[in-house]
Amino acid sequence: MSLDPFRRAARISEVELSEIIQISEAAAALKREGRDVISLGTGEPDFPTPQHVVAAAHEAAMRGETTYTPTAGTPVLRAAIAAACERENGYRPEQAQVIVSAGAKQVIFNAFFATLDAGDEVILAAPYWTSYPDMISVCGGTPVIVAAGAEAGFKLTPAALAGAITERTRWVLLNSPGNPSGAVYSPAELSALAGVLRDAPHVGILVDEIYQHICYVPFASFRTVAPDLAERTLIVNGVSKSYAMTGWRIGWGIGPRRLIDAMAAVQGQVTSGASSVSQAAALAAISGDQQLLAERNDDFRDRRDIVQAALNATGLIRCGSADGAFYLFPDCTATFGKTAPDGTRIERDADFTAALLRAEGVALVPGRAFGLPGHFRLSYAYSRTSLTEACARIARFCQSLA
Ligand code: PMP
Repeated sequence: MSLDPFRRAARISEVELSEIIQISEAAAALKREGRDVISLGTGEPDFPTPQHVVAAAHEAAMRGETTYTPTAGTPVLRAAIAAACERENGYRPEQAQVIVSAGAKQVIFNAFFATLDAGDEVILAAPYWTSYPDMISVCGGTPVIVAAGAEAGFKLTPAALAGAITERTRWVLLNSPGNPSGAVYSPAELSALAGVLRDAPHVGILVDEIYQHICYVPFASFRTVAPDLAERTLIVNGVSKSYAMTGWRIGWGIGPRRLIDAMAAVQGQVTSGASSVSQAAALAAISGDQQLLAERNDDFRDRRDIVQAALNATGLIRCGSADGAFYLFPDCTATFGKTAPDGTRIERDADFTAALLRAEGVALVPGRAFGLPGHFRLSYAYSRTSLTEACARIARFCQSLA
């Protein structure tokens, strides 16, 4: 047995630094060498946090709201989340059915940590947000990954879901609008999945709706489409993406009270309540003027259109439409078998992204990081100037392939 006191525990032996972070670091290293690098790797809105939100946080701090809050969040914020839920999705949870955490990420982690025992299975579709399988594994569970390629619109189908459910299934995890594909489930698609889940009463349903407000088709919440499954549904949302507040670390979960209580028990031993000042900021964001959501949404859609058209014009990259989030997930398999000017033969998505970064200084994340090789993820939450320049470089790189 190893004598290293800091050897990794078995449950995290497989967890590595996320490929997205690795790529950002590679891009940063090139920048330090003086290269002109455009990184479209990370998923963060480029808008600033609204001024009235920053002001509310400042005022809260000045008022002395700088102490611990209740573990599950301040009562005013939980009430405001319930009201926002009613306004936006047509149902109103009780305050006790709402928990506030340090980002949507902590909400999801708490849910898995609170419920998974060794060998319990969680079904999710690939492509998936990179953190999901790792969080499931860290919590002792087993990710059960179902391929959902372009032909399925990058969505879990009822048949695939039904085929993946076993006695060990504890959760199915849905994400709409989805990272990295931008795919959005329609009410009919959610309803069909709900139909399968009605016959599987031992399965919990975790629905990550963090990109709700970055959506170019009418958004439908699973909770609204299948209210009869509310007792088994956990909805995850937050302010990070919609209000450009990634650094404030506020997300929330809405679910049955016994689950919320268990998640609060976990959180109480890890971080306690989320930052008091950030909760005041989130309160201002969701209770204040909502007009900016529509404005930003239109802006993101316009950028999506610019990038999608430019990528398809390369002839080698196939980029289908994406109805939400701020990502595109194009297919780069037509570049396979070709050789870059520096001699790199492109056999896989990661060869494509690595050669592109070296040749043209554009950082993208290979599809394999999201469980679906043959693609890459591009975040278009960047300025039009950067996006146009990045697309021109991608086109030049494609032309240079022999
Ligand atoms: N869910 C998805 C699908 C995401 O893409 C992200 C952020 N990349 C999160 C959750 C985490 O959000 P937060 O910053 O609120 O923890």
